[in-house]
Amino acid sequence: MNMMNLKEIKEFLSGKDDNTLFHEADKVRLQIFGKDVYIRGIIEFSNMCREDCLYCGLRKSNRKLKRYQLTMEEILEGVELAGMNNIKTIVLQSGDDLSYNKEFIGKLIEEIKKRLDVVITLSLGERTYDEYAYWREKGAERYLLKIETFDEELYKKMRPGKKLEDRLQRLEWLKELDYEVGSGIIVGLPGQDLDSLTNDLRRLAELDLDMIATGPFIPHPETPLRDYPHGDVNLSIRVIALLRIMNPYSNIPATSALASLHSDAREKGLKAGANVIMPSLTPKRVRLLYNIYPGKNESCQCVIDEINYIKGIIEKAGYIPSDSKGYSPRRLYA
Ligand code: SAH
Repeated sequence: MNMMNLKEIKEFLSGKDDNTLFHEADKVRLQIFGKDVYIRGIIEFSNMCREDCLYCGLRKSNRKLKRYQLTMEEILEGVELAGMNNIKTIVLQSGDDLSYNKEFIGKLIEEIKKRLDVVITLSLGERTYDEYAYWREKGAERYLLKIETFDEELYKKMRPGKKLEDRLQRLEWLKELDYEVGSGIIVGLPGQDLDSLTNDLRRLAELDLDMIATGPFIPHPETPLRDYPHGDVNLSIRVIALLRIMNPYSNIPATSALASLHSDAREKGLKAGANVIMPSLTPKRVRLLYNIYPGKNESCQCVIDEINYIKGIIEKAGYIPSDSKGYSPRRLYA
């Protein structure tokens, strides 16, 4: 079934047979990952951004957002919390904030590795080859850079001044540098149709990724897309299921964007092939300011509660919270 053709993909996307689709996806996930769900703690250390992506609440034109930047010590406090809760992957994410330069991020990686036996995932946006190479040398193992859409026209509209090919180039660099590489798309961007989404799924599979993340578009009131409808939750779950079937070995999260629309949507995502969940370890004082889209980080206010809440979601869905590092199985078997 993982060799689906475009017509089949589009039919499933339009909701032709959700039962078969979700069942098949869960079968594939059980074969590769069993019932384990990997937990990745994410620290959102800065909401400053030099980009102006139309969909994102952190865009530089959003002057209403109070900006924050965590210090090295503050980030490391979040890291300690991960250690205390037996979390084995730390994801460091931010807006495209160049003031965290090559050396700062390098030092941060070193400090984390000194303190804990964890895997580090970076999600800092578009940086130079030299920076990616340096951080890999310092010990970062994974990098997440969502392509958002493979539709060139739509991409240009959504990310003013940016080119799809430059983002794709970076994914190639990251692979070359031997990172576990993650990418993904937003479901339901204004102007995206089922053909475009079908093509996205095909292109993602061709990239042969270690991680693939997807979530519904959520309109943010302080962006030009404020009046557009949000992405469909069911469609987003179908995308997860198709991703699982087409990329059996990839780590696929049930994202927080799903949870922003429906409290049980992440559970549905787990039942339809997702095998990763990413609780936010961002300090309480700033976590609501990491406002990529409305509803982000609103579920729980304190880190311990957030982790327990996430474990509850996993168990309720019938799976097992795992404290494995959750390396990419694609590298072992694919
Ligand atoms: N600056 C980094 C991190 C971006 S935030 C980068 O560009 O890679 C992480 C993800 O949030 C983005 O990749 C995007 O897919 C998602 N996102 C941003 N705004 C969104 C919105 N309004 N609805 C849904 N997802 C959104």
